[in-house]
Amino acid sequence: MAEPLFGQPLLTVDLAAIVANWRDLAARGAPGAVAAVVKADAYGLGMAAVAPALRDAGCRHFFVACLTEGLALRGILGPRPMIAVLEGFPPGADGDAALVPVMNSLAEVEAHAAAGRACGVARRAILHVDTGMARLGLDARELAALAADHAMLAGVELLYVMTHLACADEPEHPLNALQAERFAAACAALPPARRSFANSSGLFLGPGFASDLARPGCALYGINPTPQAANPMRQVLRLDAPVLQVREIPAGASVGYGASWTAARPSRIATVAAGYADGYLRSLSGRAVAAFRGQPVPLVARVSMDLTTFDVTDLPGISAGDSLTLIGGPGCSPDEVAARAGTIGYEILTSLGSRYARRHIGV
Ligand SMILES: *Cc1c(COP(=O)(O)O)cnc(C)c1O
Repeated sequence: MAEPLFGQPLLTVDLAAIVANWRDLAARGAPGAVAAVVKADAYGLGMAAVAPALRDAGCRHFFVACLTEGLALRGILGPRPMIAVLEGFPPGADGDAALVPVMNSLAEVEAHAAAGRACGVARRAILHVDTGMARLGLDARELAALAADHAMLAGVELLYVMTHLACADEPEHPLNALQAERFAAACAALPPARRSFANSSGLFLGPGFASDLARPGCALYGINPTPQAANPMRQVLRLDAPVLQVREIPAGASVGYGASWTAARPSRIATVAAGYADGYLRSLSGRAVAAFRGQPVPLVARVSMDLTTFDVTDLPGISAGDSLTLIGGPGCSPDEVAARAGTIGYEILTSLGSRYARRHIGV
């Protein structure tokens, strides 16, 4: 495990918490299976550590976004677990990695079916039906064509039919029920196959959203899948950044670029070694809090590329060499930091920088 060097922030990822979150979600997904979505380097937390921990806990199905992630994950996990690629790929593009493409259009269905017929071995694949996202997946016209001619699927071993919810984090949104209806109708019109439906939030929407394979991502990593209620998931990460200096400034002195903050009283300013280049977003300027031994520490002035300043006037215990918890402490969970930055927890996680020492604990 990397020890932080002088001045280096430390990102701690609790693999036991991720595993516990997966077990909680797996219990919600029962009787169907529950996969793990580990795209974007397991939402920034390190796929190479996260995926084996989940595999060892019993997870048998993994989803990544793209072919490069799928090839990397096959190298990490070895031959057995299912690895599905949400963006799909042409037949054979995965070499001997035995990845499962998600077929997102009729043309992709035709390509995989033709390849399967040509070699006499059906191609394992997942069929994505669009029920309300309009990004990827068969649209209504393509679905009707396939429903009218199931022979188009000859040469494909259909592992799952899947769809993706647009508004699962808003339980009252009418699109949820509409998507469930459209998905049921699509599955009824297609050859019998197992179904894959809910993402993290979808697992909390009730029995109408159950399926044979749920696909949670964010909740594994401690993001609240039920934003209207208390977070049922365990917190997973902590970002601690070292204080490089604590300086005294007189009332009336300004701090940082744009002189956007001026001390109203004689103040002590702690300069911390992390900034927007580390994923501590510039939109947090003047708005965030960090934590020090359970106490909130207000961010003042602008977040700059490598440095951020905090007002520690009321926390005389802080000096150079101490660390402030920027993400993952009281008052600064990823969701709370996201709210202050005007974004979502997903973006806080996937923006986490590359300059940290990273420590995976808990297994
Ligand atoms: C990212 C993604 C998921 C996981 O969503 P979360 O909201 O993070 O649980 C599931 N399915 C698809 C198609 C996705 O793109």
